[in-house]
Amino acid sequence: MNDIKKIAVLKGDYIGPEIMAAGLAVLKAATDSQQFKYELIDLPFGGDGIDRAGDPLPQSTIDQAKQADAILLSAIGGPKWDQAPRRPEQGLLEIRAALNLFANIRPTKITDRQVDRSPLKKAYVTGTDFVIVRELTSGAYFGKPRELQAHQAIDTMYYNESEVVRIMHEGFKMAQKRRHHVTIVDKSNVLATSKFWRNIAKEIAPQYPDVMVDYYYVDAMTMAIMSKPTAFDVIITPNLFGDILSDEAAQITGSIGQIPSMSVGSEGPNLYEPIHGSAPDIAGKGIANPISMVNTVAMMLSESFGEKAIAEKIYRAVDAVIDQGDVTPDMGGDLSTEAVTQKMIMHIQSDE
Ligand code: ATP
Ligand code: MG
Repeated sequence: MNDIKKIAVLKGDYIGPEIMAAGLAVLKAATDSQQFKYELIDLPFGGDGIDRAGDPLPQSTIDQAKQADAILLSAIGGPKWDQAPRRPEQGLLEIRAALNLFANIRPTKITDRQVDRSPLKKAYVTGTDFVIVRELTSGAYFGKPRELQAHQAIDTMYYNESEVVRIMHEGFKMAQKRRHHVTIVDKSNVLATSKFWRNIAKEIAPQYPDVMVDYYYVDAMTMAIMSKPTAFDVIITPNLFGDILSDEAAQITGSIGQIPSMSVGSEGPNLYEPIHGSAPDIAGKGIANPISMVNTVAMMLSESFGEKAIAEKIYRAVDAVIDQGDVTPDMGGDLSTEAVTQKMIMHIQSDE
C-alpha cells in the first residue's frame, strides 16, 4: 500500500498535548523506515476547540474528521472551561454521535513483564487479556427524558433493537478473532433494558456456534473482574456498566496511564483515545505517563491500518521500559514524559 493515510489529530487539553507529542514521536520513529505513510491533520476540539475556534466541536472538525482514515484523540476538558457555554465534554459526546461511534473497545492485558505492577496478586493476574465492548451512543447516557428538578430528577435508560443487535455482532465477531468466548453483562434480574439486552444476546448467540457464551449480572461482574480476571475474553455491556467496569479493569494493570481505547462506527473512521482524562492536577509538570497514548497509536496502526508488525514493535518498546523501570511516577518511576518517550524510541530503533 502506497497511499497516504490521513490521521485527524485532536491534541487535547492539559496533559493531552504532552502525551500526544509523545505518541506522534513514537509513531514517526516506528514508521520511519517503513512503507506506511501518513499525513497528520490538526483539528480544534474540546477546550482547544473553544480556544481556537469558539466551540468544543466546530462543524469543520466534524467534516474533516469524517474524511480521515482514523482519528487520534488525547484527553480533553478541565477547569479552564468550567464556565464555557458549551463545555469540552459536550464535544466528546457529540463527536461520538456525529460519527456514529457505537462501540467502545477497551483492552485489559497484562504481559508477563507487567504483572509485578498490578495491585493484585501476581498469581491471579498473570495472563489477564480481555476486552470490554461498551455500547457508546445509547443507554443511560443518551435516553430522554433527562430532567434535574428541585425535588426530583429523572434519567432514562433506553435501548432499541438495532442498537443492541449491532453491538452484539461487534462483540461476537471480535471473539471469533480472539479466544472464542463472550461474556454478556447486564442487570436483567431488575432492569427492563437489561432483560431486552440478554434476550437479544440469546437470539444472536446461535449464529456464532464457535463462540462460548456466559452471562453475568453487573454487580457479580465487578467481583469477578477482580477475583478471576483471566476468566474473560470479550465482555459485551451497556454504556453505563461499561464505563464503570472499564475503569475498574484498568486498575488491574497498575496505572490508568497506560490503557488505550478504540471507538468503532458502522462506517467512517475509528476514533482512538486513552481511557483517562486530561489530568489537570499533573499538567505542565512533564510527568504525564505517555504509555497510554503510545498504546493508542499502536492500536490505531493495528486495527485501522493493518500494520500489526509495527504495532508489535511499539508494544515491545512499551514492555521494555516497564520492565526496566524507565517509567513515570504514576508507575513508580522517576522519569519525565519526554525521557520515557526517548527510551521507547531508542528501543524501537534498536529493534530490527
Ligand atoms: P475524566 O472525567 O475525563 O475521566 P477523571 O476525573 O476521571 O477524568 P483523570 O483525568 O482520568 O480523571 O485522572 C484521574 C487520576 O489519574 C488523576 O490523579 C490523574 O493525575 C491520573 N492520571 C490520568 N492520566 C494519567 C497519565 N497519563 N499519567 C499519569 N497520571 C494520570
Ligand atoms: Mg473518569
